[in-house]
Amino acid sequence: MDGRTDTAGGGEQVHQGRDELYIDGRWRPAAADGRIDVVNPVTEQVIAQVPAGDARDVDAAVRAARQALPGWAATAPGKRAAVLAAAAELMAERRDEIAATIAAELGAPPSFATAVHTDMPTAVMGLFAKLAAEHSFEERIGNSRVLHEPVGVVGAITPWNYPLHQVVAKVAPALAAGCTVVLKPAEDTPLVAQLVAEILDAAGLPAGAFNLVTGLGPVAGQALAEHPDVDLVSFTGSTAVGRRIGAAAGGAVKRVALELGGKSANVILPGADLARAVNVGVANVFANSGQTCSAWTRMLVDAARYDEAVELATKAAAKYVPGERLGPVVNAKQRDRVRGYITKGVQEGARIAAGGSDAPDDLTTGYYVRPTVFADVAPDMTIAQEEIFGPVVALIRYEDEEDALRIANGTVYGLAGAVWGADEAEAVAFARRMETGQVDINGGRFNPAAPFGGYKQSGVGRELGPHGLSEYLQTKSLQF
Ligand code: NAD
Repeated sequence: MDGRTDTAGGGEQVHQGRDELYIDGRWRPAAADGRIDVVNPVTEQVIAQVPAGDARDVDAAVRAARQALPGWAATAPGKRAAVLAAAAELMAERRDEIAATIAAELGAPPSFATAVHTDMPTAVMGLFAKLAAEHSFEERIGNSRVLHEPVGVVGAITPWNYPLHQVVAKVAPALAAGCTVVLKPAEDTPLVAQLVAEILDAAGLPAGAFNLVTGLGPVAGQALAEHPDVDLVSFTGSTAVGRRIGAAAGGAVKRVALELGGKSANVILPGADLARAVNVGVANVFANSGQTCSAWTRMLVDAARYDEAVELATKAAAKYVPGERLGPVVNAKQRDRVRGYITKGVQEGARIAAGGSDAPDDLTTGYYVRPTVFADVAPDMTIAQEEIFGPVVALIRYEDEEDALRIANGTVYGLAGAVWGADEAEAVAFARRMETGQVDINGGRFNPAAPFGGYKQSGVGRELGPHGLSEYLQTKSLQF
């Protein structure tokens, strides 16, 4: 397969996959022999193969990135911005192909693949182009001139759940800062990463500034995370792997950014608009088949309105018909894992108000999980503590505001959340006391320039916007 794009199926243009890595500005065969099968989670068919690069390939990519670093770091920010702006334009031009590719390798419904998986990262690329042009890479503090310099060679390791967004959220700020990058994308979704390489190449990025090594996590990912010539490792994925990467980075005294799991609380205060809060909350969890690290997977409702909330959530869940509005989860392992959590919830005494662990009716193919609403969930149950990463929402009853706060803060995570109150002031007052990196107030919209990242075990560092750019910069003070 040479990376041609299939235009056969009704105008759909799924990138077919290249049997090559992108290193030092060109596509070339991997040193390693292995291949990774890319499987469409809807059809369960292999749709492409990509190389499973190994430590030799990672080493070649890191060397290319190191060699390209002085040149790219010295490129004027305005010129770096122009390359990113061109990339954003090319992403917009190739919108259908990107969306079709993500729909095929992730299983996302086409409209979601376009509006969220494609348009959002395209906008983020554009925002970082703007930031690169406008950011002040110098400041004065008293008799010092403080230079904000690129950290160096970045190793980026990304997951499959928002396969383009997570790549752009690392690669765009890294390049804007003047860093060079080696990307190891998730095994399940390497095709869109290949499109990113094609786009950055066509946008005029110099050879070696961006390199792509597809491969297995414990092989290529680990080699990248532990490579001595990588200055910063930026990882998004599971807490288990993140912990190891953080430990290795600590041992080598290098910078690390970790975006890990979440178990975010959707806190519905007694005075809130219950129907709206429940409906938006259910939609938030079931979007992307529940595979969102910031999803509000715990819905906290006061005892007086709890039963009404369960009824509303059950009704809302019925709209998420598997195979239509609700896509499959990414692979068979993930499906079994999510169903295992549903079984565990029942075993621990929670009540299924909608869905369940059995396969959806009439769907014999595809990694589907029924959209599941759990009622009577106690805050310490496994399904209220661990990240499930599937279409499962847990409704938890609270007695008063202090109880709600204790429950909201009562997990090891702290990535996101929501508060719904009678008014903004009430919701903000509660949000201030939450141990979490983002809180949406009374349905506040996602802001792609606001810092995104976790408290506690949800991670280290922030992505997106000026805060995301800062992660890739280090300071040097000149005294006069
Ligand atoms: P994962 O952490 O195994 O994979 C994420 C990335 O890390 C992939 O690119 C993978 O190849 C790489 N990787 C795996 N092992 C590695 C290693 N030893 N060294 C370096 N890199 C390595 O996640 P997963 O298995 O795909 O998903 C498991 C669970 O993780 C999910 O069910 C979910 O709970 C969580 N998850 C969270 C996010 C998030 O955005 N926070 C994203 C994906 C998965």
